[in-house]
Amino acid sequence: MSITESLLKIKSEIPDTVTLVAVSKTKPIADLKEAYTAGQRVFGENKVQEMTQKWEVLPKDIQWHMIGHVQRNKVKYMAEFVSLIHGVDSFKLLKEINKQAKIHNRTIDCLLQIHIAEEDTKFGLSENELLEIVSSEECATLENITIVGLMGMATFTSDEIQIKKEFAALKSIFDRLKNKASKNIKINTLSMGMSGDYKVAIEKGSTMVRIGSSIFGTRNYT
Ligand SMILES: *Cc1c(COP(=O)(O)O)cnc(C)c1O
Repeated sequence: MSITESLLKIKSEIPDTVTLVAVSKTKPIADLKEAYTAGQRVFGENKVQEMTQKWEVLPKDIQWHMIGHVQRNKVKYMAEFVSLIHGVDSFKLLKEINKQAKIHNRTIDCLLQIHIAEEDTKFGLSENELLEIVSSEECATLENITIVGLMGMATFTSDEIQIKKEFAALKSIFDRLKNKASKNIKINTLSMGMSGDYKVAIEKGSTMVRIGSSIFGTRNYT
């Protein structure tokens, strides 16, 4: 199947209320152009430099999502244009995003990443760490970020029961977080689900899926 065919097939399978992030990491500009021509406007990348290079040459109505783990010293390179940062996993990083957004006179939407998988290799906060961040007085002073929701990655396993359990746990944290709404906390986005598990994720309440290989084909490297 071509990129266009795969994209249209996935779009037909997911509800209109779920946002599709086309994960184009490692893929050449031509592939992104094909998806763009097929109507896709939201793209996800996991490396700041690669995303910036693509942003420079592609149409400006694309929304760029940073889905990877972000180092604080890289935030400045994407602060001018990034539309959503999925992997915020520390208060220090949130403060740096706020600082860089302010320099560009913008507000940047952020998702806090929650650790739901069994593997230690995956990044993310516990629910307690999350509550500590969103309840802190200092968080309320960050005027150039908005916390719009949560992101999580399930364990890499073929055990669907395990995946369902992890997504359900993330959904309940998401629902509890809705009570914390404030000036810079507006909870409306639950980013969960990738090529292998997006159907289960949607069943469990995902509002945003990040799909790469099922659209663009397999990657040679990550
Ligand atoms: C690469 C990546 C994806 C997409 O993975 P696929 O299995 O190719 O759909 C989704 N989310 C994150 C955080 C990623 O790094």
